[in-house]
Amino acid sequence: MYFIGEQSYCIQCHKLLTMYDNSKVFIENINIKLTYFCLSCKYSLPYIHKVKCTICHAHQACYNSCTINQELRQNFSSVAYNDEVKELLRTFKFEGNVAAGQALSPLFLLPIARYLKETKQFSLLKKVIRRGLFSYGEGTSSYNIVTSVPISRQRLIERGFNQATFFAKHVANRLNAPFVNFLYREDGFEHISHLNKHERERVVQHLYKIKQDTIDRLNSKLSDREIKPINIIIVDDIYTTGNTLKACAKEIKRSTRFPCQIYGITLARA
Ligand SMILES: [Zn+2]
Ligand SMILES: [Zn+2]
Repeated sequence: MYFIGEQSYCIQCHKLLTMYDNSKVFIENINIKLTYFCLSCKYSLPYIHKVKCTICHAHQACYNSCTINQELRQNFSSVAYNDEVKELLRTFKFEGNVAAGQALSPLFLLPIARYLKETKQFSLLKKVIRRGLFSYGEGTSSYNIVTSVPISRQRLIERGFNQATFFAKHVANRLNAPFVNFLYREDGFEHISHLNKHERERVVQHLYKIKQDTIDRLNSKLSDREIKPINIIIVDDIYTTGNTLKACAKEIKRSTRFPCQIYGITLARA
């Protein structure tokens, strides 16, 4: 939905929106309110209904030979990365079309619900689905911390914002969890798309670094307590090979002095 004068238009097909476009969509018994889309675009989004690999959330055959208990336990995605999703993400990231980011944010409800089911946080799941947002102070059985995949300082200056952080704050809000900026990305490696798969993999492994003062504070707060493992959720827009999320998870795991389990929540699964 965007406005020209008094009228509002579908973010995807640019059709004029009418009151018939207001209805919510039901995916896996979850009511998702996508106000920026017309009804037919809402239903044509490539929701992932059946997952072929429960670890990386591949909807087609998984060639990653995923095993559990690596640094990144699991990834949860909402939709397949098709041309429409790609275009919406492109206008958000590269043209700064915030409406596209806002339009896509509610889709995170699906991977959040899957994550809560998987980690057996059923009371929180009920609240998230029933009320969307809820107020601070309500107890949850597990403790969640949300963070995002960082972009380099150079990119941040060019783009003005980090799309993963934009989505991560939405996820944190839904989960009633704190958003903590754990990581930064080294400058000078913005253009690595020309490298081959192996070279890229090697570079990505060392790109993400922990913010020492942030982790020191968390370590001193959490390490000397007898606590259940803390769930750390890394949010990103797209999951392709998983190398980025794995590199981030590895760096966090290496630096934490308290028990934690690391999960990924992403909008699109390529
Ligand atoms: Zn439409
Ligand atoms: Zn897999």
